[in-house]
Amino acid sequence: MGRATAQHSFPLFPHTRVHPVCEGCGSTGVTLVFRGRDYLKGLPGEFAVVRCKTCGLLFQWPQLPWEHLRVYYEGEYHAPLLRYTSSPLRRMVQRVGVLKQRWYVERFCRGGHLLDVGCGSGLFLEEMQHSGRWHLMGLEPDADVAAITQEQLGIPVVPHLFEQATIPPSSQDVITLWHVLEHVYAPRYVLHKAWHLLKPGGYLVFAVPNYESLSRLLFGRHWVGWDLPRHLFVFPRPVLHRMVDEARFHLVDRRCFLIPTIHLVTRSISGPRTGHRLCTGLLAGCAGPMTPRWSAQESFPSRCSLNAWESPR
Ligand SMILES: [Zn+2]
Repeated sequence: MGRATAQHSFPLFPHTRVHPVCEGCGSTGVTLVFRGRDYLKGLPGEFAVVRCKTCGLLFQWPQLPWEHLRVYYEGEYHAPLLRYTSSPLRRMVQRVGVLKQRWYVERFCRGGHLLDVGCGSGLFLEEMQHSGRWHLMGLEPDADVAAITQEQLGIPVVPHLFEQATIPPSSQDVITLWHVLEHVYAPRYVLHKAWHLLKPGGYLVFAVPNYESLSRLLFGRHWVGWDLPRHLFVFPRPVLHRMVDEARFHLVDRRCFLIPTIHLVTRSISGPRTGHRLCTGLLAGCAGPMTPRWSAQESFPSRCSLNAWESPR
């Protein structure tokens, strides 16, 4: 199946289903893992995480449709992504984060066409712009954020979901998905679409919460990687590898980084319920590039979080 002609057969919005169907394997058998709340913003609602009995993928069920889910993204959620934050600690962590991302991408590819999916306020794009070796493009579903980022950076930022964006096949050397896959309704489709948009030998680079992290064991349902209801999926490593392999990538590297999450601490003590919320921890990054079976290298990294949260009383 050629990159330019391939069609997909994945449901883009599986939340419209009446019964849970595993995104990873198509199985309909699930077990309840836990019920949790929005511990980040404290908005109302109770949400369930289920595990596929067949493959082990963890996902939220039922999934909120976007018209309901979007309110959980408003306001504070974007705060860590905003540019020119007044907090020096947050700026330092942002700086360390984008330097790490640039270093990691440029280990595998030193220039070319790069598409950053879910680019937000464009911190990563701006860092890549400094190198002068990249033709950059961003995708950001929030139209206001997309317009501001495009104006500030002078880089095209398309105000669309990746699933719905029209981008020429085989046009990208690198596609980055920094903490995107756990938010989308159809991660399998996203992975397949990324393959079609990459040139042969291009790299897919992504980060997701690390289910195998120590922090998940320590903090249980308060683990930041669950982030209900914004995270629709949590990927155990074998499930993730199978899904990416199915999309015709080969793993060529994976690693973890440890950096302090001072920005989370500062956020927790400045928010409305902050006296009740404790957040400490480390961000750990795992990265893993992948190679197509037939050709040169593509990549995928992932990143994990190590955090402690206390519920609002
Ligand atoms: Zn499954």
